[in-house]
Amino acid sequence: MEHFEITIVGAGLAGITAARRLRKQGRTNFVVTDKGNCVGGRLATRSVSGGLADHGAQFFTVRTEELEEEVQGWLHKGWIKKWFGEKYARYTAVQGMNGLAGHLASDLPTSLHTKVVKLLENEGGYRVYGEDGSEWQSDKVLLTMPAPQVVELLKNSHVDVEKEEIKQLKSILFAPTYVGIYHFDGVTDLPESGHVDSGLPDGVERIVDHRKKGISSETIISIYMEAEWSRKHYGEDYVMSLIKEKTEPYLDWGQMKSEQLKRWKYAQAKKVMRQPYVDVSGDGCLVVAGDAFLRLNDEAGRTRFESAYLSGKDAAAYLSW
Ligand SMILES: Cc1cc2nc3c(=O)[nH]c(=O)nc-3n(C[C@H](O)[C@H](O)[C@H](O)COP(=O)(O)OP(=O)(O)OC[C@H]3O[C@@H](n4cnc5c(N)ncnc54)[C@H](O)[C@@H]3O)c2cc1C
Repeated sequence: MEHFEITIVGAGLAGITAARRLRKQGRTNFVVTDKGNCVGGRLATRSVSGGLADHGAQFFTVRTEELEEEVQGWLHKGWIKKWFGEKYARYTAVQGMNGLAGHLASDLPTSLHTKVVKLLENEGGYRVYGEDGSEWQSDKVLLTMPAPQVVELLKNSHVDVEKEEIKQLKSILFAPTYVGIYHFDGVTDLPESGHVDSGLPDGVERIVDHRKKGISSETIISIYMEAEWSRKHYGEDYVMSLIKEKTEPYLDWGQMKSEQLKRWKYAQAKKVMRQPYVDVSGDGCLVVAGDAFLRLNDEAGRTRFESAYLSGKDAAAYLSW
């Protein structure tokens, strides 16, 4: 049976950052698993009719020196660019946000299409079970998926869910988000940056034109709906027409060539925890991290790219003690 020192569940930014940190410390016996077919998680980009559209995070801001240092390296490599904004500049990835995740994870040991469904504690740590029937042994496990998915996994793993740490995890509720993705002929009248997030009708959070954003040769538009609106209309089959109706004045819908919808069940945490990770086992062998776990001194106070980055980094430092 395969044996790893550390298994990281989730190849979103928190998992990738944790893995990069472990490798930097000289560790080699670890694996990053993800149920999806690519790394990145909510750093998500879709190819649409020869163009590109981000439909998860659109950009990130930087408040810490640690991320700033990385950003300078990523700028130098040509992976990201400054998009707009002065006080907190909005950085975006030149090949889509998922492209940045791909660069960051390119030389990490990843196992995709591997949904972890159960962990059983044993003498040597944990036996990890994949949905596809795979099994392996791991001394330590780091869970980085959204908290409701962590709780579901822990329930399947016969962990005492009445423990205080798990009760705290249960209190982290995530809100959903609908994102409509549209291919248009020609160019739009949206502002030069391609980003609109103010003065929009109720329920609409932002509209992004990826050609104007500079990452797509085609006009691909993402329309993000607010969490409350998405929750109210979750699962309804006329969501696409409602989004178009709401944003009618902003786009020439006669020029639309194709449309698709992305439904994020877990987009943003409505409540965060003011600690960068949680040690569920109490002995550093089963640890939970991710964007909902913020450092005590986090200035922004919400889930975002930078909170996922810092949580992954801090959790890896803790794990490799
Ligand atoms: C619509 C939307 C818009 C956003 N906009 C912005 C923005 O503009 N700026 C910003 O800073 N942030 C934004 N965010 C937030 C940002 O994307 C996240 O904070 C960050 O990407 C989260 O990273 P993470 O690693 O914590 O989690 P995730 O990216 O969710 O990674 C978790 C991973 O775990 C995997 N997984 C889940 N369960 C299992 C399992 N059982 N086994 C194996 N793998 C599993 C998932 O497939 C996923 O890849 C946005 C998010 C969304 C959804």
